[in-house]
This record gives sequence, structure tokens and C-alpha cells, in this order.
Amino acid sequence: MKRPKIRRPLPGPKARKIIQQDRKLLSPSFTRSYPLVAHRGRGVWMEDPDGNVFLDFTAGIAVTSTGHSHPDVVKAIKKQADRFLHMSGTDFYYEAQNRLAKKLAELAPGKFAKRVFFTNSGTESVEAAFKLARYKTKRERMISFFGAFHGRTMGSLSLTGSKVKQKENFGSLVPGVTHVGYGYCYRCPYNLVYPECNIDCVNYLEHTLFKKTVPPEEVAAVIMEPIQGEGGYVVPPLGWHQRLRELTRKYGILLIADEVQAGMGRTGKMFAVEHWGLEPDIITCAKGIASGLPLGAMIARADLMDWEPGSHANTFGGNPLACMAALETIRLLEEGLLQNAASVGDYLISGLKELSRRFPLIGDVRGVGLMVGIELVRDRETKEPAVRERDQIIKQAFQKGLLLLGCGESGIRFSPPLIVNKGHVDIAIEILEACFKKVAPRLVSAIR
Ligand code: PLP
Repeated sequence: MKRPKIRRPLPGPKARKIIQQDRKLLSPSFTRSYPLVAHRGRGVWMEDPDGNVFLDFTAGIAVTSTGHSHPDVVKAIKKQADRFLHMSGTDFYYEAQNRLAKKLAELAPGKFAKRVFFTNSGTESVEAAFKLARYKTKRERMISFFGAFHGRTMGSLSLTGSKVKQKENFGSLVPGVTHVGYGYCYRCPYNLVYPECNIDCVNYLEHTLFKKTVPPEEVAAVIMEPIQGEGGYVVPPLGWHQRLRELTRKYGILLIADEVQAGMGRTGKMFAVEHWGLEPDIITCAKGIASGLPLGAMIARADLMDWEPGSHANTFGGNPLACMAALETIRLLEEGLLQNAASVGDYLISGLKELSRRFPLIGDVRGVGLMVGIELVRDRETKEPAVRERDQIIKQAFQKGLLLLGCGESGIRFSPPLIVNKGHVDIAIEILEACFKKVAPRLVSAIR
């Protein structure tokens, strides 16, 4: 079995040179948590320019769903590249967009007719959904959740409720957005306990918000991530999604499911909402849809998408290379990767649960399919977030050849390519265990 291969010290000389240039030339606003320089990727493996080989459990933030440079995806891209690279779906027609739109409309939950608007990223898909919701309902308000991440352009940033850093110094955002507590049972925003709580976090909208501050007939849409990504890989409890659907229907409010991170097979189903039998009015996707090519989509009920020509468009959305990559990605998902995400995801979760029995630093293990997270706490009673320890573990893992990313305040996310197998999971757990042994004993004694 192939294993990570690391020559110390990291970063090596070639990587260091690129990082030094990057620091002079690129925006300093990025959040790089360790010095990985990508040079060549194949499957679950990423090599840096100095020949170090890393096991990638990030998939470039949940994007390279079929693994790095899957040969079938690359072939489809090359074939399209020989035909034409771009013609703009705003002004002209081409078949690749039709084929992908048809496929997405068939796959998205709900027997009703649907239409698709293509974008280049998650934030643009959310912007499109936000605009369509306002345009169609002629209502101005939106409801979103604390912990939500919907993007960083002004509209989607208004909906984002993840970290104050993402908003500070950017002035006033789009008005009319109200954030409410998410179905985050490990840290219930209302200090209740499931199931006795009767999912009061959703009831709160009706019993408090709609009575005190937000007239429901002014709300265009509720936007939610079926599983929060950036906010900490938080899985709401059974009943949460359905309750939200019932409530939005009752008040004629649209329900937008932001599937940018959870969608396109990551949870073992094409769309995460399928786990709860949910039929949203609008779905946003991006990230894993085209295995790494920039593409996003907003899929909406056809009767909603009746906006006038010229009301919303873009130059690059639905790029033909990206559409062909997406069609090939979906074929691979349907022909085995969905199933793989479900079974290897279960294996990963049980491996992490086993680890949590030995390391009290792991306060919670949660996830669906290959959207898996752990939350680190200094004390299981007080649940004090172990932020420094989380950062140390991620850095240590990098030094040992495992690529991970944080999420939430003190979480670690596991979002490997969906081609990952149990052997890869064993390596990841083994490395993680070594990192915990190094970081956790010090922590345990410090608490005592
Ligand atoms: N929505 C969700 C749920 C996301 O996780 C992200 C990115 O992490 C976005 C939207 C924004 O996507 P992008 O970074 O492609 O603009």
C-alpha cells in the first residue's frame, strides 16, 4: 500500500521559494494553515515540488470528488478543449450546458420541472438563489443560520454567519437578513437537549421571530446548509430539515438548500437533503460538481425561474470544459463513488469514534458519508474549545504527510476525494493517532 513520503524539513527548498514569492505577490487575505505547495496530484495523493507525497483528506476543500486528475475527467476535458474552450452561455447556445442541466434537473429531489442557472463558484450560486428568491417573491427579507457559510461576495456574505472576521471592515451588507440558531445539538444554541427539545430551534422562528421582529410575509427565503460545512461539519438532528420545510411552506417562504459543500455525492447521496427526504425549492451547488474545474449551479423549480432576459447572467458560467468534466464526474458518482462515499465514510466515522474513546480531546465525532468532522474540546464537561490543540494537530498531520483542514471553532474536517478506500482511512487514523499522542498527553496533564 502506498504511503505518504516526507523528507524533512517541510517545506523543502522548492516549496519554500514558491511560498516566498506568493507572500510578496498574492493577497494576504487567505487562511493558509500550513505550507503545502501543490505540484502534482493523482487520486488521493498530492505531491509537492520537492517530491514529498501527502495523503489528501481535504480534496482541495471538498472539490476533487473523483480524486486529483481522474483520467476519465481529464479525457473529457481534453476532448472538449479540442472543440472549443468558451462561447458564453449568456449570448449563445451549446449542447454541453443542455446535457448537464438535464442531468442535474433529473437528479435534484422533487418530481416537479426544474431549470438551471450555471455559475463559476459557490458564492455565485448563492447570489443567484438570493436574487431569484427576491425577484420571484417580491419579498426582501432572508433568514439564515449562525455558523452558516454561503460565500464572500456581498450578497452571500450577508447570509454567511460563520466568523466575524469574514464581515468586519466591509461595511454594511445587504439588509434584511436575520440569523437564527442552527440544529447544532452538541452546542445547542438554546441550551436544550434533543429530542426533548422538540426541535425548538426551528419552532423559534414561528414562536418568536415571526411574532416579534420579522413579518413572515416579508421573508423571501430561508437558506440552510443541510449539513454545515465551514461552520463545523454539523449534522442537524432527525426532524430538523422536515420541520423547516413544513414551516416555510406554511408561510409561502422559499427553502434554499446550499449544497455547495455537502452536495454532489459527498454524503453518499447525490444531494445531502435526500437523507431527510427533503425537496427544497432551490438548490445551490459548486465545489465537487466538476472534480476541480470551476463550476457552480443553481437548480430551481421551473415555475420560480421565470425572470426576464437580461435580469441575471454571467460570462463564464457553464463553461463547456467544466460542463463536460461535471457530466463525467456525475457518471463516476453514479457508477460507484456514491456507494463508496457511504461505506468508506461509515468506516472513517467508526475509526474516529474508536480514537475518541482513547483521546478525551475529541469531544464529538459526526458526519454523513465522507463529510466527517471531529470537534476538539479541552474538557468534555465544559466543552471548552481546544483551538490551539486543533491547530497543532493539523500542523503535525501535515508534517507526517496527511492533509487536513479545520472547520468551526475547534473542529477538524475529513473531506477526502470520494475514491478513498479503507486502507487510506487506516493510514489517516494511524497518523492522527500519532498526532494526538503528541498533543493530547500534555493537554490532559494540564487540565489535571
Ligand atoms: N456555500 C457553502 C456551503 C460553502 O461551503 C462554500 C465554500 O466553502 C460556499 C458556499 C462558497 O463557495 P465558493 O468558495 O466557491 O465561493
